[in-house]
Amino acid sequence: MMNDGAGLSVSQLARRARGKYQRITAHYLSQRPFAIKSQIPIVSFTFDDFPRSALLTGGVILQSFGLAGTYYASLGLIGTQSDTGAMFLLEDLKALTAQGHELGCHTFNHCHAWNTSPRLFEESVIENRRVLSTLMPATFFKTLSYPVSVPRGRTKRRVSEYFACCRGGGQTFNAGKADLNYLSAFFLEQARDNPAAIKHVIEQNSKAKGWLIFATHDISEQPTQWGCTPDFFEDVVQHSVHSGARILPVFQAYEALGGKTSS
Ligand SMILES: [Zn+2]
Repeated sequence: MMNDGAGLSVSQLARRARGKYQRITAHYLSQRPFAIKSQIPIVSFTFDDFPRSALLTGGVILQSFGLAGTYYASLGLIGTQSDTGAMFLLEDLKALTAQGHELGCHTFNHCHAWNTSPRLFEESVIENRRVLSTLMPATFFKTLSYPVSVPRGRTKRRVSEYFACCRGGGQTFNAGKADLNYLSAFFLEQARDNPAAIKHVIEQNSKAKGWLIFATHDISEQPTQWGCTPDFFEDVVQHSVHSGARILPVFQAYEALGGKTSS
């Protein structure tokens, strides 16, 4: 295997370059700028896919603080067993909206946001909406989270007309000028062994009066690599509350920040 001076193989270098290219294009192409101007910092809690435990355990923790979160569902996963555990059932979708949580879109087929063509990605967004309209005619997706990866620029542009805002990753918060087609989020599982990093990002968000969107998957005593434990999750919620932030589901946060409700 060919190595450069730093000990990286050519394929590792190529992968690194590709990852950087994807992150840059995801951020800078097809932006929908949005000024984050708030007197009070905002925190949102979001769950992707989503495993039942995100609602049955995570949702109960949020409710114990009088709070609500956003659940990004791929309706094609309903009732299945996935990498992140047992997926939601129809009764969970009904329960979460009745409890004041937000139901968001994660595409019907859980489409990889980079490897899926923009056209197929859009079709999967439309299919998720169509299936939701049959399952729960009074409920509409207002926000989206991109599955697995950063999105392509053309994917951002295609889906922007369907949603008030779309969330990615990036392990940071939104402040100053944000992009409604690619809001940053902080995945809890990536810092579950480093609670100080979570406290730090909550503090930084407070100082910046920004919008911090946490994301994760399952909430269980033996979490998958994409989830975290109930105790850990509860600590994060408690820290967020004590930081003085307003805790809102994503669409409500968008509205609180002056976003138009007609989107
Ligand atoms: Zn996902």
